[in-house]
Amino acid sequence: MTKVILINPPIYDFSAYDVWLKPLGLLYLSNILKNYNIEVILLDCLDRNYFKSIPTKTDGTGKYPYEIVPKPEVLKNIPLKYKRYGISQRTIEELLVCNKDASFVIVTSSMTYWYLGVKEIIETTKKILPKAKIILGGIYPILLPKHSEKLFSDKVDLISKNFSFCEILKYLNLLEGETKYKSFSNFPPPDYTLYKYIWYVVIRFSYGCLNNCKYCASKSIFAGYEMKSTNQIINEITYLYNLTNCENFVLYDDALLNAKNLHYITELFNKLIRLNLKIKFYTPNGISPRFITKDIAYLMKQLNFTDPRLSLETISSFTHKLVDNKVNLKDFEKALENLTAAGYKTNEISVYLLAGLPNETIEDVYKSINLLHKYKVRIRLNEFSLVPRSKIFYELGLSEEDIDPLLYNNSIFLFNGIPNKVKPWCKFEELQYLKNYVKNLNEKILNLENTYV
Ligand code: SF4
Repeated sequence: MTKVILINPPIYDFSAYDVWLKPLGLLYLSNILKNYNIEVILLDCLDRNYFKSIPTKTDGTGKYPYEIVPKPEVLKNIPLKYKRYGISQRTIEELLVCNKDASFVIVTSSMTYWYLGVKEIIETTKKILPKAKIILGGIYPILLPKHSEKLFSDKVDLISKNFSFCEILKYLNLLEGETKYKSFSNFPPPDYTLYKYIWYVVIRFSYGCLNNCKYCASKSIFAGYEMKSTNQIINEITYLYNLTNCENFVLYDDALLNAKNLHYITELFNKLIRLNLKIKFYTPNGISPRFITKDIAYLMKQLNFTDPRLSLETISSFTHKLVDNKVNLKDFEKALENLTAAGYKTNEISVYLLAGLPNETIEDVYKSINLLHKYKVRIRLNEFSLVPRSKIFYELGLSEEDIDPLLYNNSIFLFNGIPNKVKPWCKFEELQYLKNYVKNLNEKILNLENTYV
């Protein structure tokens, strides 16, 4: 029986937190491979089962263990500690030694600026399983094909730069899967049998996004948009709920609600309510306020959507016209009205703001924050960073060859910029002040008793 090890690497970063991070692609792939009678081993370096002594919150999120590591040369001036998050190198080596008979090792990747974790895994795998074929997939080689080739082409046997699994299946000589698994709608449920204990289940109803925001590279990862059928989703959720006994379900959809799927979502949500499962749904990628109608808000409340996160990014219609054209303040106000009418308190609702959009100043961001605070919602500040292959990246005349991806890290981009190419947006101290400002406002909001509008 062919044996394959799937690996989710550790993270090298200034900060990292388990906000429902699961290697969903690997979990789909696992069940696909098992359909072909392939033995699958998962080495998820971020699996909370390895560090049970670190508390996990009721929503399944929690801290990762870390060790402080030397900063790479390009980050030497950053006034923050650089860390490696996840299980120890020793544990990784022990797990690989126990599976020396594996023929293939498939390594996934996500953020481009996390490539040092990929590097560590590939080097360790080469050392312990010199004969195994190594495949690198995930987001990093899709967004940075040249960088990943340059760094890894002599160490790995295949670099897959494609969202679908066809290339990988073909490489494994599973030709039948080559066509079937081109489409997300044919993916089986993600494989959660690979984990001992599950604190949260991550799934998707859809793949791709209908929007084309200038700061995002979603279209470069997958240009289309596909949904699973309502019956598939119902079966998948029922199966995963019975399998895991877990009540935290996290939706990874890029655009859960959109102009094309409201009918489908309404039907799906109604069917889910009828299942009467004890589930809470979370939406870390945000949902568009534009599509939170009265009906949808009511269904979300019935389904226990918890801490609904609205993607607003800025209160400025001028900025929206420039960068995403997907929402405006009126949409947000209407969504808030619908959600509170459905029974949510305002401080149970979060709004995403994006600090550092190239045409906005720090004063503009304060304006957005101060206005949103008046609605008594929780503000979640995201720090803008350049994403390779996004429209903004090209508008700035940048190319992947001459930038170290470590510089795309959103923890540093705003105050560090890209030396000699993109100026910093603010000073380090200004950003810390801004983040603390939001933190203090949020604390006030979370302590409010009466937040119905
Ligand atoms: S930012 Fe979100 S809504 Fe915009 S293109 Fe990317 S995934 Fe779609």
